[in-house]
Amino acid sequence: MALTFDHGGGVRSVAVPIPDNPLGHTLVYVVDTGRGPVLVDTGWDDPASWEALAEGLAAFGTSPGDVHGVLITHHHPDHHGLSGRVREASGAWVAMHAADIAIVRRTREARPERWFAYMAAKLEAAGAPEEHVAPLRAARGRTLPGLAPALPDREIVPGELLDLPGRRLRAVWTPGHTPGHVCLHLEEDHPAGSPGRGRLFSGDHLLPGITPHIGLYEDPDDATVTDPLGDYLASLERVGRLTPAEVLPAHQHPFGDAGARVQDLLAHHEHRLASLLSLLSEPLTPWQLATRMRWNRPWPEIPRASRDIAVSEAESHLRHLVKQGRAEPVPGTDPVTYVRTA
Ligand SMILES: [Zn+2]
Ligand SMILES: [Zn+2]
Repeated sequence: MALTFDHGGGVRSVAVPIPDNPLGHTLVYVVDTGRGPVLVDTGWDDPASWEALAEGLAAFGTSPGDVHGVLITHHHPDHHGLSGRVREASGAWVAMHAADIAIVRRTREARPERWFAYMAAKLEAAGAPEEHVAPLRAARGRTLPGLAPALPDREIVPGELLDLPGRRLRAVWTPGHTPGHVCLHLEEDHPAGSPGRGRLFSGDHLLPGITPHIGLYEDPDDATVTDPLGDYLASLERVGRLTPAEVLPAHQHPFGDAGARVQDLLAHHEHRLASLLSLLSEPLTPWQLATRMRWNRPWPEIPRASRDIAVSEAESHLRHLVKQGRAEPVPGTDPVTYVRTA
């Protein structure tokens, strides 16, 4: 039996399982409109996940074939995985922010060798030891999961009301976790009369008990030096100012006080930046910095794939410190090391 919830006011959700993942499930929201249900995210592409989604929709008296449209908060496979199947079943449109559509297009066109070579070069530049980089070079020809995500056929334009008959839903651009992440603000009175302005579908941007991963916007074709952590912190302030009555996140559970959660997350990142700065009293490569940062377990116990994520997290924090003028690269070092500014 699929796990379903009724959030009131024509909004329900299905917990769609993510196989072998500690997150457990993606909450796929089902918004009633004058032309049939519209989904916010679709869940992981797996037969059991599809079954759960179809069961959940059946429990709401509808089916995948009735879906009018699909709004995707961001391109990650636990959000966009089943979009292609929903579109096949229903002919629904699939919408996403242009910056994440660009990633989907690139993923569909890229050859896995290109990606592995790019990641290997990047980790080498970050100071990763040879034994960590070598398996990536050897991975040529291996396939990656989620290599053929569905290409969206509509763009979510931030700031505009979405074309949903009978609803007031506005997209808010919240880059950081991905460059094209959006939250969706349902500008309607809260069904239980909770104080605040409407409800916010927050994707992975604002979650009640998890800090979303903020790495670099990995793009083999773009050498622009971006600042995803800076983007994320600005996006947090943006959604805090919306003062929604309730947040409907893509994982865990709905929650109230968005402003308090935003303050928690801002404080968490400021604390983390300060602790990185104290580590940077001596010059360190991003890899060295990652091995000394505080994680949920000691570095030697972190599996290799998670180490890649940890290094990109260290790099996004370094980028932000450099941008703020609180740290700087040491000239002439290779791999480049960073040190805090005097
Ligand atoms: Zn995500
Ligand atoms: Zn997610």
